[in-house]
Amino acid sequence: MGWRTHCLVCLGESKLKTIIDLGMHPLADTFIPKERLSEPDKLWPLMCDLCLTCGHVQTRCEVDPSERYLAHEYSYTSSNSEYARGHWVQYAKEVTDFDGFKLKPGDLVVELGSNDGFLCEEFDKLGFTTWGVDPSPAMNRLAALRGTRVRSGFFNHLMACTLLEQFGRRVPLIVANNVVNHVEDLQDLMRGVRELLAKDGVFVFELPHWLRTVQDGRIDQIYHEHVSYFTVTSARMLLWLHGMSILKVEENPYHGGSIRVFAKEDATAALPGPVDILKDEYAACLLSTDTYETLIARADRQMGDVVDKVLQASHEGQRVACIGAAAKANTFLNYTFLDSRIIDFITDASEHKIGKYTPATRIPILSDEAFRDKGNMLAVVTSWNISGPLEKKIKEINPDVELYVPGKG
Ligand SMILES: [Zn+2]
Repeated sequence: MGWRTHCLVCLGESKLKTIIDLGMHPLADTFIPKERLSEPDKLWPLMCDLCLTCGHVQTRCEVDPSERYLAHEYSYTSSNSEYARGHWVQYAKEVTDFDGFKLKPGDLVVELGSNDGFLCEEFDKLGFTTWGVDPSPAMNRLAALRGTRVRSGFFNHLMACTLLEQFGRRVPLIVANNVVNHVEDLQDLMRGVRELLAKDGVFVFELPHWLRTVQDGRIDQIYHEHVSYFTVTSARMLLWLHGMSILKVEENPYHGGSIRVFAKEDATAALPGPVDILKDEYAACLLSTDTYETLIARADRQMGDVVDKVLQASHEGQRVACIGAAAKANTFLNYTFLDSRIIDFITDASEHKIGKYTPATRIPILSDEAFRDKGNMLAVVTSWNISGPLEKKIKEINPDVELYVPGKG
């Protein structure tokens, strides 16, 4: 472990400024199985630095990627809700219908960070030959159960070379969703993309939009697995340094506000798309440290409201639980020091999380059914980005539950 001392995008060393310090946090996507409860939790300082040269934001503390994805079974499955599945089914259709290129049945599609293989399968259903790449053995086992083709490991230039040798040709489409922001060596990733992507091929990546996180004051989007926090400005810089440019950018509500970037080699002719977003990013003063002081003050007020509500409920004898054992819930729980002493349980729909415990706060993860017959519990919706369907589901199980969505009052 150490500090990241240079910007992962522009490689500048001297202009990194710490803008956010959330204290000590465990890995947010690592949940603890019962048999490992006696082991201590590892915590690392969760801080963000801003590169004053290119505007990129990244976590300061380096946690070894093998610690992040291999030491424990990685628990996040990208098809973990109906909402998520709908998003990825639509994604496969929209991306392959994209006007910028015409894919033919049988064409190769490579997905970086293929997770449980759900999206690979969707591309396969549309008639493409899809290969996934993912470092997590647990996820690769799930993908194999779906019958999708997966190469195990971290995608980088070396892996791109071996895939190229295997395929015998470059590929017209590489996709990476909520992956580029997890990558330690962005330069090696981009060298790999350039190696494997056909000359007229398109690289599509989707990730949470830092502008949205800042505007909505959602600091729980910050955790160690999210190494980078991209804007269109910083994404454009990274692509430019590798001879690529942005064809278009689309915004969507996934993960509380994401951008989908379509990039190709030398796409200089097609730039009007992101101009509005670039203007929004400029207007939001994302290079000013004052912006982040305001963000933290707002988040502290919001978190303080939740803690007040929870303590009040507990004081009055009302039991308290949380809904949604997402990574963001772990940032929230560790930041507010709400743990198993006061939170009875946290519910989640994922079979890969139920039966485990949240890291450091050690709250048992149960299914939503745990709310049945529990009377008037207070339930804090930690997966606020899908609060609508979650609230409906919990109310069906137990109409007496009092739901509280942080930030909504
Ligand atoms: Zn930079």
